[in-house]
Amino acid sequence: MMKRRVVVLGATGSIGESTMRVARALPEQIGIIGLSGRNNAQRLLELAREFPAATLCAGDEKAAESLRGKLPGRDVLHGGHGLEELASLPEADIVLIAIVGTAGLRPALKALESGKDLAVASKEILVMAGEEVMATAKRSGRRVLPVDSEHNAIFQCLEGKDPSTIKRLILTCSGGPFRNASAADLASVTPEQALRHPTWSMGRKISIDSATLFNKGLEMIEARWLFDIPMEKIDVVIHPQSIVHSMVEFVDGSIIAQMSTTDMALPIQYALTYPGRFSGACAPLDLTTVGRLDFEAPRADLFPALDLARRAGTAGGTLPAVLNAANEAAVDAFLAGRLSFPGIWENVVRAMDAVPFVEHPTLEQLIEADRAARTVVAGG
Ligand code: NAD
Ligand code: MG
Repeated sequence: MMKRRVVVLGATGSIGESTMRVARALPEQIGIIGLSGRNNAQRLLELAREFPAATLCAGDEKAAESLRGKLPGRDVLHGGHGLEELASLPEADIVLIAIVGTAGLRPALKALESGKDLAVASKEILVMAGEEVMATAKRSGRRVLPVDSEHNAIFQCLEGKDPSTIKRLILTCSGGPFRNASAADLASVTPEQALRHPTWSMGRKISIDSATLFNKGLEMIEARWLFDIPMEKIDVVIHPQSIVHSMVEFVDGSIIAQMSTTDMALPIQYALTYPGRFSGACAPLDLTTVGRLDFEAPRADLFPALDLARRAGTAGGTLPAVLNAANEAAVDAFLAGRLSFPGIWENVVRAMDAVPFVEHPTLEQLIEADRAARTVVAGG
């Protein structure tokens, strides 16, 4: 395979760090030529030294200036425009979006428009504007490669299959830290408890999403756009070991699953080297050590996130953007101690009911719906 020249937006986060492990393991296949980080300037500086070919993008002008002082002669961009410029670097082949939330949306569209393939970890951008992202990819003749482990698994299970033979997609879900909790337990959950995920080590926002199951709700809508499949063909099953990363059921009753260790290096690597397979950064899976794989139905009564996501994904229009933005704002408020744990989904419901619905929104209307949802949450 030709070496892929990769830009990583959100390089200083959890997905970013896993991506650097992949790049170190596959120096023949992956060349890092762009790195962004918003609020961890020290880490961005270290990565800049490790990957001297990379153009950089810092959070703001001050951080960019400080980097230039330490790295004479180096190109350092900053802010939202800097991200868009980095995403459209002429020499880039593929842009990985690993920015938490929706700040990666414009850079993602810019990357596709300038002829780059896109690897997407930021599910929020597909929830907010999946139709727009996929249409832009189609227009530009570029690929959108899923990095989220479930979607990467489904992508692998679907290869070479006739789409008309798909009966349903089955997203697996660890169940999060409160899989066996009661409604009373959930009422008093603290940020510290919610941040402690049983199987994955991740950034703060997605860790809270995994505890409320909004992460899985967002992933249902993400799957709807990535695989162009109606919401009613997307199911969720709880699988506490996080070894089966997701499955596809076909019309004849056959179910194909993808399994590997609980390490984001594998889906990241597969997205960046697709369709190649290489011995890389991910440790092999020993099923005899895992011992058993359990599956159970989700508790939709205790975790409303799944039904809310189904409602938003089925209605389409601005509703997924509202769900996503309200959730993001509510997670911030919960982490800041301003909201209870059940307050997260209570606020999402409030925003979904309050923000005016537009069935066929433009990008500007999606951005407006996102803003309005945040205002509803902030207004308490
Ligand atoms: P993180 O918080 O660890 O890292 C986020 C990165 O984005 C950092 O580099 C940060 O500097 C940058 N950033 C944050 N806000 C920004 C903004 N407004 N503008 C520019 N840069 C900004 O998050 P993470 O856990 O790596 O998750 C990143 C994305 O990947 C999320 O959308 C998450 O849902 C998705 N994801 C993560 C995992 C995981 O294992 N961590 C798994 C699947 C999907
Ligand atoms: Mg996932």
